[in-house]
Parts: sequence; structure tokens; C-alpha cells
Amino acid sequence: MTTNERGKRARGPAPASGPRVHLASLGCAKNLVDSERLLAKLAAAGALVGATAEEADVIVVNTCGFIRPAKEESIGAIVEYSRLKEGGSCRRLVVMGCLAERYAKELREGFPEVDAVFGIHQQEAVVAACGLVLPDTDDPGRLLVTPRHTAYLRVSEGCDNRCSYCAIPAIRGGFRSRPAEEVLDEARRLVAGGVRELVVIGQDTTLYGTDIPGEIRIPELLAHLDEIPRLRWIRLLYTHPAHFTEDLVDAYLSLSKLCPYVDIPLQHLSDRILRRMRRRVTQAQCLALIERLRSAVPGIAIRTTFLVGFPGETRAEFNELLCLVKDLRFDHLGAFAYSREEGTPAARLPGQVSERAKSRRLRDLMLAQQEIAFAKNRAMKGDVLEMVVDRPSEERGVWIARTRTQAPDVDGVTYLRGDGLRPGAFVQAKITGSRGYDLVARSCEPPHRGRKETSDV
Ligand code: SF4
Repeated sequence: MTTNERGKRARGPAPASGPRVHLASLGCAKNLVDSERLLAKLAAAGALVGATAEEADVIVVNTCGFIRPAKEESIGAIVEYSRLKEGGSCRRLVVMGCLAERYAKELREGFPEVDAVFGIHQQEAVVAACGLVLPDTDDPGRLLVTPRHTAYLRVSEGCDNRCSYCAIPAIRGGFRSRPAEEVLDEARRLVAGGVRELVVIGQDTTLYGTDIPGEIRIPELLAHLDEIPRLRWIRLLYTHPAHFTEDLVDAYLSLSKLCPYVDIPLQHLSDRILRRMRRRVTQAQCLALIERLRSAVPGIAIRTTFLVGFPGETRAEFNELLCLVKDLRFDHLGAFAYSREEGTPAARLPGQVSERAKSRRLRDLMLAQQEIAFAKNRAMKGDVLEMVVDRPSEERGVWIARTRTQAPDVDGVTYLRGDGLRPGAFVQAKITGSRGYDLVARSCEPPHRGRKETSDV
């Protein structure tokens, strides 16, 4: 959705015998996990993964088909890589993922330079299209493209919620939880490989386990993750306000590794629009949930997303949302303009809002949130917080780090100075200021402490 992973390089051993493959992964973290699985398969089949697009023999584009801007970005990437096929070393261009699942025929007809188009469940076919044969061994797992200490953990596939604007159920199918043992095995393997932060994702993580008779639910799954030695942080994303249980609130109190951070995409706060969106939740329920979380879990950071310009949304209903956003003061907020997606019930609704009004509402909402986010960051000056070092910044001696309330890729970061810092180090640091959406901090750790933490990873 919002994350462009294009250009990220995969880590891990790569036999030098096969073709050089560049994989461009667009869209959300769920798509990124698919990309990581494919990279592991390609490497197991002998490809040299992690090549730049310019030096690659084969380019694979894992597309996103969520909303119009995401689709446009995917098309832009296909156009860009098609040029490399004419002028560069690229011999094969393969397109896969959500957009390909939805518009395979159109992509085949519109882009003759593309050699093959595959949906989201055809990874073996993608490997074959790269001219490779998968060895007959165990599932090769994933080749992470995130920093070594952080990984996404996808606990389910698909979605059954059928919100009226969303094409995801049509693209990714119905909701299927992965068996808990499989999820926990993967988590343990990731931690054994050096991961210290697990970011739990799925289209709706709060529904985890409800589709498998006798399966544990999300609070118990988190409790099992919490017991994994050497894992430091667990972060929960993509919860649904209609399915957020009291047990899950309790999990935040009892599990020490669960970061005081929750992502609850609310999408709107006007009752009439929520009904038209088929969100199965009311404004009062959303407000009660936020109030409950804030009173039960002191310091919890709440991330949400809103969709503005939904068909029939009046300026008054948008203003209602805007006023509530100003009152509720979310820690992180993303917003999208409604995108009319073919085949969704909302696309057929009367009262489609003009593009001009949608962009105005989007701008008004983001400006209101900007003021809140900047003020919240300024107020953190002087706080001493735990943070993890992700990577060096472009500024000499300054590292990019994140606190427990900053999720990778979607939130701001912390610019951290200090001695003995290295990627994967968990340190205590004092917030010395802020730069807009980002924080600035200085490590409180003596140099040897930072090094010890790092060697642990
Ligand atoms: S919960 Fe609604 S918005 Fe989210 S993926 Fe499912 S249908 Fe789409």
C-alpha cells in the first residue's frame, strides 16, 4: 500500500552459477513477504539474487493492485524495466503479484515486452519462467530484505471482511489463518537467524485463528511469541476495530515484548459512511476502543488510516472526521483518497466525490495530523527510551533507529548519535529534539554496552 520496497537487496548466500535476478517488490509488507519467499526459491534454484536492475539478466516485478496510485506505481515500474530490456542486460521481464492477479490479460496485451505474467499463488511458475528448476528439497523459507534484526511475520492470508471499497478479497481470496505451529516454527527460525523484532501482519490480524476449529487466537499466539528467548520486540499491525477483544487489550498488559503500539485502520468515523463502507463498527465503538486502549496501556501509540472522499461523503461528514482526528490526536496516521475499484460494491454507489474535493480533503486531514504529530514529537524531548538501531544514516556519525512506538517503513524514525552503535543494537537513548515526523536522540549507553548488545544479534 504505502511502502515501496523497490531496490531493496536480498541478503543471504547466492550461488554464482545461475542468472542474475532483480526483484522489485511494490506495495505493502504482505507483498514483501511473498517477495522474500520467492527470493529464497530463486536462490535455491541457483539464481544470483540481489542484482541491481541494470545488471540483471531477469527482472521480476511483484506488483501491487490495491488502489489507483499503487497500480500506477506498478505500471510505472513495468514501463521503466521494459526499457532496460531494450537497452540493458535484461533478457526476461516477469510480472507477478496483486496487479497481475487482477489484470493479467490487460498486462499481457498492453506490454509485449513482458515475457510472463503470474498471479500471487504461482511462485513455482515464476521460478520456471526465470529459466530455473526448483530442487526437490524442503521449503527454502524466506530471504529477508529487511534489516537482519527485523522481520514481518504473516499469520494469515486473504480477507473475509468485504469492506465495500476493497478489492483485496477478490485478489487474495478468503481469510485463512496459518496453523499456529507453522507460524511459531517460522518465528523461532527467524529468531535463530538473528531477528529480534517480529512485526505481526495479515489482512486482519484480530481474526487470527477464528477460521480453524480449536485453533488458538491472536492473544495466545502473541503469548507464545513472547516466550521465544532472544526475541526482544513484537509489534502488531492491521487489527480491525470490530474484532478487537478485551483479551487482546489484556495481552498488552501481560506480554513484556509486545510493543505499546497498535495499528487500527479505522477508515472513517462518521456512522453513515462507516455503514456504507460495511465496516461493521460504529463511531461510538471506535471511540470506546481508543479510550479503552489508552486507559489500559499507558503510553500506547495508536496508528490508524482513513479513507477520504468515499462515495456520498459530504463536506459535513468529512468535517466530523477532521474534528475527531484533531480531538483524538493519533500518534501516526495515514490517509488515502478513495479509489473507485472495479468489481467492488462501492464503485457502483451514487454520489462519487470529485477528484478535486478528494485531494482537498486529503490535504486538510494530513495538515491537521502534521500539526499533531510534530507537537507530539516536540513533547518527547528529554524522554529516555529503548530503541533499535536499523542502519547508518547519510549523516556521518548518525544512525537511523526506531523506538518501540515507531514501526518500520510506515512511521517516522529516530536519528541517533552515540558510540559503539551498530545495526541490531538495542540501546537506551535520550530524545534531544525532533525533525518533523522524526525524533533526534543521543545514546545513553556506554560504548561497551552497545557492542555487547550488538554481538548478541
Ligand atoms: S478488512 Fe476490509 S479493507 Fe481490510 S483487506 Fe479486508 S476487506 Fe479490505
